[in-house]
Amino acid sequence: MPEIITEIKFLSKGLLREANIAAHREKRDYCIDPELLEKFPLDFIYYVTRFHYHKKNELRLFIKTPSNEILLLDVSITRYESLPSIIFFDNDTFDIKINDRPYPNHREWQETEVLKPVRKQAKFRKNVLQAYNNNCAVCNIKDERLLRAAHIVDVRDGGNDEINNGICLCVNHEIAFDRGLLQILDD
Ligand SMILES: [Zn+2]
Repeated sequence: MPEIITEIKFLSKGLLREANIAAHREKRDYCIDPELLEKFPLDFIYYVTRFHYHKKNELRLFIKTPSNEILLLDVSITRYESLPSIIFFDNDTFDIKINDRPYPNHREWQETEVLKPVRKQAKFRKNVLQAYNNNCAVCNIKDERLLRAAHIVDVRDGGNDEINNGICLCVNHEIAFDRGLLQILDD
């Protein structure tokens, strides 16, 4: 039996929009600008790279965007627990776990996607994924929705968007890389 390495919560764009509307309504400290949110692509997994226990019954989520920016969003613990998750196993496979939604009338949960997906995938991502044959550099994950183009030298540290400063990593390995659990050596 494969063993679970990690479980990562994520939001679809619809779930992100719902959580953001709720955060505004519930007057939470961190919300996302709705106009900015609408510019994000539909076909993307917005995963929670980490979270803090913020206040009683509230979590502060760190959510990664397609352009590798981190958004802060405060949600109730109930909402967080209801989010779907990706479970990574030690044999390089994964599973998607959909959790029950706690709001019985489904009113808030209707995901009517009427807006056209905004296709603004960064060129960097496209080039890096191509260079790696759509395959995580560490494991065998090939699902494009789970693949990210990470910068080897962070942009904040002067890294550029050239292909050789990019590495294709799955969500799981990107988080490991971001937290310094995974290092890339010169050779
Ligand atoms: Zn991987």
